[in-house]
Amino acid sequence: MGKRKKSSRKPTGPRKREPLESSFTCLFCHHDKSVTVRIDRKEGIAQLFCKVCDQRYQSKVNHLTEPIDIYSEWIDAADAAERDATVTRRPVASSKFSCNVNEYQSRLSFRPPNAIEQREGGEIVVAFDENLQTVQMRSAQLGSGPEKDGFTFDRVFPPGTKQPEVFDYGVKDIVKDVLDGYNGTIFAYGQTGSGKTFTMMGADIDSPELKGLIPASLNKSSSQLWNPMRTWNIL
Ligand SMILES: [Zn+2]
Repeated sequence: MGKRKKSSRKPTGPRKREPLESSFTCLFCHHDKSVTVRIDRKEGIAQLFCKVCDQRYQSKVNHLTEPIDIYSEWIDAADAAERDATVTRRPVASSKFSCNVNEYQSRLSFRPPNAIEQREGGEIVVAFDENLQTVQMRSAQLGSGPEKDGFTFDRVFPPGTKQPEVFDYGVKDIVKDVLDGYNGTIFAYGQTGSGKTFTMMGADIDSPELKGLIPASLNKSSSQLWNPMRTWNIL
């Protein structure tokens, strides 16, 4: 058996204790190290506060509690508060197995008559209520069927409605929800030639007046992606 090699390492004294981190990133304003935790062991309490946005949190401590524990507690407390607040909201996109539809809106859009229809003497057969929610079939108004009172939607867009108006009515809110992590769907239903492509894609994606809901939604979301006031979490 060979001789045991003598360690060349000098013996070290007791390891110096690193000072524990006591400033952290703020959950609310997201500033780095803006949150400070002060522990008062005599009083048995810890105070956390953000010097940027003035968020505060207080908790009890024992002799083992470190600032990071208070910071974690604060995160948990904020999470719990957020959960309580979101119970009534829609499920987030990341909850894969839930597909509740808690909100939907139906809109009905009418396109103006096209050249062929005009040439052939076509007539407009519907009438719109002033509230832009009900549409009546003129021929049914004298009848007695359930269609006599017309059909009601969340919103009716008569011929000539400009694309931005359609986008502003609810579509931009769906884009905002998607950016906030919720699911959102817009779909167009209608017979061939009724204007689905015009509504969704538009006649000219470079024209604010003529671009459809898809380019308008993408413009809106890409402008938000570069918004310096927002923070994004990549999951
Ligand atoms: Zn803050």
